[in-house]
Amino acid sequence: MLSKPRDVLLFILASPSGAGKTTLTRLLLERHPELQFSVSHTTRSARLGEVDGTDYHFVSRAHFERLVQENAFLEWARVHDSFYGTALSEIGRAERTPGCMALIFDIDVQGARQIRAKRPDIVAAFILPPSMTELERRLRGRGTETEESVLGRFGAARREIEHYALFDYLVVNDNLERAFHELESVVVAERARRTRRAVLAEALLQNGPRSGPEEQ
Ligand code: ADP
Ligand code: 5GP
Repeated sequence: MLSKPRDVLLFILASPSGAGKTTLTRLLLERHPELQFSVSHTTRSARLGEVDGTDYHFVSRAHFERLVQENAFLEWARVHDSFYGTALSEIGRAERTPGCMALIFDIDVQGARQIRAKRPDIVAAFILPPSMTELERRLRGRGTETEESVLGRFGAARREIEHYALFDYLVVNDNLERAFHELESVVVAERARRTRRAVLAEALLQNGPRSGPEEQ
């Protein structure tokens, strides 16, 4: 029988704030129970409806700095005046979760660059808004930011899009269902990559019948 390879696909999902990354990540996780979300640490306060330990680990600045000193982070960065980081332990947690096939990192461009340098096997997708006007509309429409924060995030968007070449895939979030299916196809295809499935082919060769004399 084919057994599950031990490695979990590491998948970065990044976007300028407001392009729809959180919405798309939620859909992926709802419809694909074999995917797990990497829960980051952050020093920003929780938004209405966000749950500590599920959306983020909400920590103080002192706590965050202690984790940096202890080298507990795979990557960390300052984003929109708060600190965000991915604990190294998130990968171990995914590898220990039965049935987990991929770990989704919702992180910014700085974090994507840092993880890529450490884990070249990582796959990275960047969500683009259909237009800058629509991006601004979505940022305001979400209703979670102050006017100052909307302007800050919108100003940062252009600088983030400049780094698009860091990513393997660019997904335009125009229509949500269409963008979702494109993203889903990428995750499914990446799971079937030869380098990730080679272990299965090798197992068949180890356990199957030996080749006959005519092939020797
Ligand atoms: P991000 O996580 O990238 O900051 P969100 O997922 O919070 O962005 O989306 C920003 C806002 O845009 C939310 O109000 C969300 O409901 C809305 N939104 C997301 N995708 C679409 C879409 N394809 N069409 C219209 N609105 C969208
Ligand atoms: P938000 O405050 O809207 O939840 O997130 C702001 C930005 O921080 C988003 O671009 C999000 O992807 C990014 N972010 C969230 N967690 C991490 C993380 O662990 N590391 C990095 N580098 N960025 C993160």
